[in-house]
Amino acid sequence: MSNTVIQARELGFSYNSREVLRKVGFSLERGDYLGLVGPNGSGKSTLLKIILRILAPSRGEVTLFGEPLRDFRQWARIGYLPQKTDSFNPSFPATAGEVVALGLQPSAGRRKKAVDESLALVGAGDLRDKLIGELSGGERQRVLIARALVGAPEILILDEPSSALDPEARESFFGLLRELNESRPVTIVLVTHDLGNIGRYAGKLLYLDREVLFFGSFADFCRSEAMTSLFGAASQHIICHRHGPEVEG
Ligand code: ADP
Repeated sequence: MSNTVIQARELGFSYNSREVLRKVGFSLERGDYLGLVGPNGSGKSTLLKIILRILAPSRGEVTLFGEPLRDFRQWARIGYLPQKTDSFNPSFPATAGEVVALGLQPSAGRRKKAVDESLALVGAGDLRDKLIGELSGGERQRVLIARALVGAPEILILDEPSSALDPEARESFFGLLRELNESRPVTIVLVTHDLGNIGRYAGKLLYLDREVLFFGSFADFCRSEAMTSLFGAASQHIICHRHGPEVEG
């Protein structure tokens, strides 16, 4: 059985007639942890939306687990944490537990147990009965990651997840992702602006600027002379320097 969980081939996308993605291709195996980086407006969120089938590509195709994403049953295998998570009205009439339950298929059994376990996993068990609109940014983020995890997804897609977190919550959040990535293993796609830290987490890097400028392992990125001439040695060093001694030399 193939271990390829996401495969994108020759993806193209335009908003009206403006091309924002061109010939984007990459593939991820089970347990990969991808850092998706690139300048503002380089097409990262658009690419995630195509992977999730929120948008249809104008060219090319994406397959998940070897098939095009067309069936809602496949959704249960994907957890998604969108970029904007701070837009809850303080009087939004749902508790944290109810929000987490939204991540379950309507037919899923043992809902309460799944919700409790998922909240406990992110250290938010005590928030279950609180209104989502009354939580702090960091607490809300944990509840939303619990929602993304509650169906035990095989792929986790996260769009700039750490912007709402203070440094301590951030470390524990990334620790949790690492644990899920290593133990289950969950395949992770993480969009981030945090080039100085991404190498601490992800094993693979996709640098997007409407097209793929680099896709491969961090070690290869850091050794690549083509990337040195593209970014300059200083920028490449910022991306690479925290990744550990094996790629520093
Ligand atoms: P990133 O996530 O890398 O910042 P996006 O995928 O959000 O990039 O955007 C890529 C380009 O597409 C940007 O130039 C952005 O302005 C444009 N864009 C994004 N969403 C829309 C939209 N709904 N309609 C028109 N243009 C859009």
